[in-house]
Amino acid sequence: MALSALFTKTISLSQYGIKNATIAYQLDPEELHAICVENGQGTTTSTGALAINTGTFTGRSPKDRFIVIDEHTRDQVWWGEINIPFDKTKFEQLRKRMLTYLSDRNLFVRDAFACADARYRIGIRVINENAWSNLFAYNMFLRPTEAELDNFKEDWLILNAPGFKANPELDGTRQENFAIISFEEKTVLIGGTGYTGEIKKSIFSVLNFLLPVTQETLPMHCSANVGENGETAVFFGLSGTGKTTLSADPDRKLIGDDEHGWTPDNTIFNFEGGCYAKVINLSEEQEPDIFNAITAGALLENVVLDADGEVDFSDTSITQNTRVSYPIHHISNIQSPSIGKNPKNIFFLTADAFGVLPPISKLTPGQAAYHFISGYTAKVAGTEAGVNEPVPSFSACFGAPFMPLHPTVYAEMLSDKMKEAGVNVWLINTGWTGGPYGIGKRMALKYTRAMINAALSGALGEVTHENYHIHSVFGVAQPRTCPGVPNSVLSPRQTWNNDEGYYKTAHKLAAAFKNNFKKFEAYASEEIMAGQPPLG
Ligand code: ATP
Ligand code: MN
Repeated sequence: MALSALFTKTISLSQYGIKNATIAYQLDPEELHAICVENGQGTTTSTGALAINTGTFTGRSPKDRFIVIDEHTRDQVWWGEINIPFDKTKFEQLRKRMLTYLSDRNLFVRDAFACADARYRIGIRVINENAWSNLFAYNMFLRPTEAELDNFKEDWLILNAPGFKANPELDGTRQENFAIISFEEKTVLIGGTGYTGEIKKSIFSVLNFLLPVTQETLPMHCSANVGENGETAVFFGLSGTGKTTLSADPDRKLIGDDEHGWTPDNTIFNFEGGCYAKVINLSEEQEPDIFNAITAGALLENVVLDADGEVDFSDTSITQNTRVSYPIHHISNIQSPSIGKNPKNIFFLTADAFGVLPPISKLTPGQAAYHFISGYTAKVAGTEAGVNEPVPSFSACFGAPFMPLHPTVYAEMLSDKMKEAGVNVWLINTGWTGGPYGIGKRMALKYTRAMINAALSGALGEVTHENYHIHSVFGVAQPRTCPGVPNSVLSPRQTWNNDEGYYKTAHKLAAAFKNNFKKFEAYASEEIMAGQPPLG
């Protein structure tokens, strides 16, 4: 089909060393959608969205995320299993091989921005092998106007070639797939994987390195929304803990669902221009905002459709990590631009599969710092032979895979900002209640929403003996009552109906917290250490 771009601007890619490519520049979502359907890569769903498959990879591959070690990064990055160093000459060689691969092809190119606050804005050029990856970039980054495009300055370049496979021996990668960031070249190479999340999370990692160092701004793996009187709430949490779900609240304006910065002049801004929601078991009743956002322009990944193009959100035959991306304006109640004032409330979301953390508790400043550095959630181990043991998972700052600097850099900034803002910090267990995974069940979404609303409205009151019970194992303040939630739900011990089993498991989790924290003890103040679980 004819590629009639909305924009009049034309570009060339020869300056990068990409030769003879046919360039589809800045296509609008309808055109990208049509191309995917035409070339057999996508299907239109009953609600007009585009459904595609990302291929072998249906999630990020953290072990294949590298940072080039050079004079910009050598002394600053916290190197290790998370931030894996990559050789500069190997990067150059791999880049050249990718550019050769991209030559002589039909490519999709998009210029976009990150950072809703103009003072922080960076220009990103994304060169995609596939039209649907380019639609993802349209949905997730900020979309320039035609005037902005005329003056567009590209700060960062992303080369995205899912069909290009690295040769580990030759290229110095671990496998055929890779995501490599070079701060010197301001270039990201993504190959061998079609998982779109690698595109957005690479720029997140870039900003997480640059913002604290150059602009004294705290980058956060969190969602954010704002209430009627302008007060901001921030929701930190690892994957699957509820950032996207809980920030989509019809009564509050959405600022963003995953990546934000907290500035020195006390504002919060979204890095992105869209949302990337999990859709496993999505229902209109439970999550109406997300459900109704899945219309034309939305990009569904790895879902299963019936003959009428109806999505079966319960079908996990391709992956548990089924997703949809859409521009933020698919959500009806949004804050525009995506900027908010200093937060009044911060929520740490955790999906505790042991089922022992209270569904809501209030943290002291020391506990807040301790839990932020710990970054706890739980994973449910492989379903092999019917064994479903929860495994604790600790990821510093609730986002270690995206944090190139030492966790204490972010933790200290957050501590200072929280104190300055006099913010309330809440720990929310969106995970299991009534027992661990396998015995108990996931906390009802309506209860979690009611608890968050109560915290936001001030209904939970001051931490006094009358209002709160101090948890004997975790030391956190557990409200005794909460509007819209039965009292028994607020006490995990009561939901278990098995005190011995409850305390045994709670001690086990507290011990896991302490064991994990050992590596941070040398950096932690007395106040932070006093925030650890008193038992375990
Ligand atoms: P990611 O960082 O991967 O984007 P996320 O923190 O945004 O993850 P969500 O996409 O919000 O996580 O996923 C939370 C999942 O858990 C959703 O599928 C949601 O329906 C489900 N869920 C079930 N019970 C709850 C609850 N009580 N609170 C929040 N989410 C719940
Ligand atoms: Mn999310």
